[in-house]
Amino acid sequence: MQNDIKLFADDTSIYSVVKDKDEVAANLNQDLERVKLWAWQWKMQFNNDKMEEVIFSVKRSKIEHPTLNLGLDHVTRKDEHKHLGLLLDSKLDFISHIRQAILKARRGIGMIKYLSKYVSRDVLDQIYKLYVRPHLEYGDIIYHRNDPEMLQNFTVRLEQTQYSAALAVSGAWRGTNRQKLYKELGWESSFRRWFRRLVHFFNLRRTGTPNYLYAELPIGRTEQYGLRKMREYDVPFSKTKRASNTYFINAVHEWNLLDETVRNSATLAEFKSKLIASIRPVKNSLFGVFDICSVKKLTMLRLEFSALNEHRFRHNFQCISPMCVCNTEIEDNAHFFLHCPLFDTMRYDLLGQLSYLPKLDLGNIDLQALLYILLYGCPTFDESENRRILEASIAYIKATNRLN
Ligand SMILES: [Zn+2]
Repeated sequence: MQNDIKLFADDTSIYSVVKDKDEVAANLNQDLERVKLWAWQWKMQFNNDKMEEVIFSVKRSKIEHPTLNLGLDHVTRKDEHKHLGLLLDSKLDFISHIRQAILKARRGIGMIKYLSKYVSRDVLDQIYKLYVRPHLEYGDIIYHRNDPEMLQNFTVRLEQTQYSAALAVSGAWRGTNRQKLYKELGWESSFRRWFRRLVHFFNLRRTGTPNYLYAELPIGRTEQYGLRKMREYDVPFSKTKRASNTYFINAVHEWNLLDETVRNSATLAEFKSKLIASIRPVKNSLFGVFDICSVKKLTMLRLEFSALNEHRFRHNFQCISPMCVCNTEIEDNAHFFLHCPLFDTMRYDLLGQLSYLPKLDLGNIDLQALLYILLYGCPTFDESENRRILEASIAYIKATNRLN
């Protein structure tokens, strides 16, 4: 064979870099002729229908390439080709792949929405991580660059899909602040793709496999100038933004920015945990409270987008004034839980419940702190104490009937 060839299971790819289009086509055609001869000798039948040709190019002006042939048949020219589950399109912008991934993820999100009436948030979270997120992540180390400004269209679409999933898992309303929502659930947002690319890079450096990728790794530097932190690799020169987002250039760039203690991790597990500590928020616990419907309402209060007037007013959601119907204050979490005269009786019961907790000194507690504890529990209390607090809050929410 004159060209490069890659085999995987029953899939075979022959490829070549085009310098002279006629010469390359002639070479590829000769190779195809050899393949045909080989198949004939071994009494094998090639399925010509499954034979496809894709020309990968980012050039704007398209060149007319000669056709390829296998025997008497033309090889069909396509705009994209699916290889190991990754859709490779002729421009290599992966838009088709991402579109397909989002479609699959949406189906999963629909399922989560349906199940959310019956199962707890932790279960929905697991369903998301097992059945939805993998679609959004498959192959992302190849195409993804962490893009906080979301300048790239596909990053925006992936992000919107993840946001929809977060709404489905938490039961929060669309329009809820993204950061607050991810913090509540303990999700890492788009940093996850940055994380996955770096983990792959760390492993590549350490194990030297796969060797065809390792061969592309830029040569590392070992010099140390006094106390100055040395970059480990020279970032390969890139002419365009597109090139700077590609795996090696971007991974090397991000690698150099990492703290030395992270880069010098001895094992993959250590590297992962150090890296993830820098991006994963600590999720807000529900301390095993299981009342699905009430947990959703508590979550909405935590995210400050619930049926309360101040929340709806701020989010422009069918509300003309943030004032409470009692007309004494704006209706926010503090007013709802601590001050609204309409709920005095229910509040009396709530505080009664809390008075059973010996660690909580209701006589001296700051109101801001009390509100926090009612919504999130207290970090210094144990699981069962916190569970009791959240249950008391939920009983209050139910008794007021305000969030229905
Ligand atoms: Zn009120």
